[in-house]
Amino acid sequence: MSIDYLHEEELLDREELNKLQVERLRSRIDAAKKSRFYSLRLQAFQAEDIQNIEDVKKLPFTTKDDLREYYPDGFLCRPMNEMVRMHASSGTTGSPTAIFYTGKDLDTWADLVARCMYMAGVREGDVFQNLSGYGLFTGGLGIHYGAERLGALTIPAGAGNSKRQIKLLQDFRVSVMHIIPSYALHLFNVIHSSGLTPQDFNLRIALIGAEPHSEEIRQLIQEKFRIKAYNSYGLSEMNGPGVGFECTEQNGMHIWEDAYIVEVLDPSTLEPVPNGEIGELVLTSLTREGMPLIRYRTKDLTRIIPGKCNCGREHARIDRILGRTDDMIILKGVNIYPLQVEKVLMGIPEVGQNYLIVLEQQDYIDNMRVRVEIKDEYFEEDMRALKGLEQKIAHSLREEILITPKVELVEHNSIANNHGKAERVVDNRSCQ
Ligand code: ADP
Ligand code: ZN
Repeated sequence: MSIDYLHEEELLDREELNKLQVERLRSRIDAAKKSRFYSLRLQAFQAEDIQNIEDVKKLPFTTKDDLREYYPDGFLCRPMNEMVRMHASSGTTGSPTAIFYTGKDLDTWADLVARCMYMAGVREGDVFQNLSGYGLFTGGLGIHYGAERLGALTIPAGAGNSKRQIKLLQDFRVSVMHIIPSYALHLFNVIHSSGLTPQDFNLRIALIGAEPHSEEIRQLIQEKFRIKAYNSYGLSEMNGPGVGFECTEQNGMHIWEDAYIVEVLDPSTLEPVPNGEIGELVLTSLTREGMPLIRYRTKDLTRIIPGKCNCGREHARIDRILGRTDDMIILKGVNIYPLQVEKVLMGIPEVGQNYLIVLEQQDYIDNMRVRVEIKDEYFEEDMRALKGLEQKIAHSLREEILITPKVELVEHNSIANNHGKAERVVDNRSCQ
C-alpha cells in the first residue's frame, strides 16, 4: 500500500518506531534531569535503565498538580532566556499551568501539526481559517504555524464574531477551517438564519477538536456544512494541537509515536489496561527540549484502537476522548459520562444542538436534570406533544445511563454558548 505522506517519519514500521522511541526517551531522561522537578523525581534513574520501550513503565508519573506545584519554571531544562514562547492551559479544571518552548520546540511543533493537517487532506494552496481563540490557548498559534508550514494561506480569524467569520469564509473562498465543534454548530445557525447555504461557501474540511464531542455531532457538522470533519486532539502540556489527529479513514486519531510514547492505564491501579480497553491516556514527549514531560497523566479517557489503520500508517490510534476522569458523573452509584448523554440526545430528531446536564439534590437525593434545546418547529406543538417528547427523551436516556433524568425542554439557542469549550455539566449538589 502506498501512503500519501508529508514526512519520512510517517512511514516508520513498529520496530523502527520503537527503536527511535528508546533512543529519544533516553536522551529526554538526561535532558529532563536538568530541571528542578526531574532532578529530584528522576534521581534514581539513568538513561541506561531504558533498554526497550517497555522500560518506560519503570519511570515515575508526572501530574497536573506537579506542574502547579513547580509553577512557573520548575520544569525548565534550559535557562529561561533560551525560551521563546509561553502558553498556558485554558484552566478548564483549575489554576493554569505554564508551558515553555524553545525555538526548536516551536519548529518541531509546527512540523507535527503540518503532518496532522496533511494526513487529514489539507494541502498547500488551501485557504485555511483558524476560528480558534489566539492568545495563551494553544489552539490559536499552534495550529496557525502548522498551517503555514504546510503552505496553506492562513487566516488568523480568532474566536467569535460569527458575522465577520462568515464574511471571511466567503470573501477568501476558505477551503479548510479549524473550529471547536460546539461553535461550528452555532456558526451554522447564523449562516442559516442569514439565508446562506453550503453552496455559498468553498469549504471542504473542518478540523474539530479541543472538547469532547460524539460521533453524532461530527455527522451533524458534516451534513450541515457538506464537508468532512476530522477530530483533532491536543493538550498544552504536550505542545498543544497536533498530538492526535484523524486521517481520512476517520477511524481513530493517530498519535505520532516518533514524538510521543502512548500508554493507556487503569486510573486507579496505574497498570496498563488490556489491549483496546478504556483507560487514562498517559503521554511522554520525546522531542521537546525546553520542557519535556515524562509519563504525563492527561486525565483524558480513551482506548487504543487495535490493529493497523487502513491508511497504512503504523502510528497508534486512540478513540475519541470520552471525557476527563474529572468529568465522570457519579449519580446514585452509577458512572456516567456527558458524552453518553450527548450520543442519545443527538439521535432524537426533535432535539436541537445544545444541552446542559444539571446535577441537583433534593431531600438528600441526587437527581439529574437534562436541559435540552428543541428545534423551533417542534416547540410550537401543544403541551401534550411536548410532554410526550420529554418522556421519550427520558426513556432513551435511561436505556443508556441506567437512571431516569428529569428532562426540561427549552427553546433553540437558549443555552449559553460562550464560543469557548462548551460547558456540559453544572453540579449544584451541596456535598461535593
Ligand atoms: P485545559 O486542560 O485547561 O482545558 P488545554 O487547552 O491544554 O487546557 O486543553 C487540553 C484538553 O482539552 C485535553 O486534555 C482534553 O481534555 C481536551 N481536548 C482537546 N482536544 C480534544 C478532542 N479532540 N476531544 C476531546 N477532548 C479534547
Ligand atoms: Zn490512518
